Amino acid sequence: MSFSSLGLSPSLLKTLAAQKYEYPYPIQLKAIPLILKKADVLGIAKTGSGKTASYVLPILRNLQRSRDTKNRHVNVLVLVPTRELAEQVKNVFQKFGSVIPERIKTLAVYGGVSINPQMKALQGVNIVVATPGRLLELVESNAVHLSEISTLVLDEADRMLAMGFKEEMDRIYALLPARRQNLLFSATLNEAVSQEKELLLNNPEVIKI
Ligand code: AMP
Repeated sequence: MSFSSLGLSPSLLKTLAAQKYEYPYPIQLKAIPLILKKADVLGIAKTGSGKTASYVLPILRNLQRSRDTKNRHVNVLVLVPTRELAEQVKNVFQKFGSVIPERIKTLAVYGGVSINPQMKALQGVNIVVATPGRLLELVESNAVHLSEISTLVLDEADRMLAMGFKEEMDRIYALLPARRQNLLFSATLNEAVSQEKELLLNNPEVIKI
């Protein structure tokens, strides 16, 4: 199976080839078609499985298809537990998203660094990768609006919940439009993740790698 049979765009396929992504990993084979058809997905997969590209590629494709990229507000929100993961995920979005004709812009925001440069950098951004606390600070300062989010991703949800972010996550959900796609990725399916699945996902497709 090759990437070309999964429904991605010609410009993304070209970028994949340039990045030497020849064949999809198992999680990508399963997740890409489901995310393209806007399903909610629960992905149980560890780091190293290729989980990041499994949601980055179809999200970029969906943004290319929609007129969302012309909106003034952010369309895609990825919540992550740590600054390191925020940077890694942002890099994957940029690797593919900044070179396609739509030039989709991604920013990572996280605590522990000054907030002002992040506030300025949010101009014209389509995709935000964030740790929950800093995202709320930015919302409270009116630097970012979550009213146009069409896709929400939780990455490493088990870690995020174990680190005590639940309260902030709930405050963020309350700010999102009710109609949206939800993608939940976690290395394990423990009790806390199961509860989050019940809360967030509508008729989810479940992928276990
Ligand atoms: P992840 O599990 O998302 O952290 O990805 C693990 C590593 O695999 C990263 O270095 C990716 O760049 C790489 N990778 C992901 N998918 C593919 C693919 N289909 N072909 C080659 N490398 C890939």
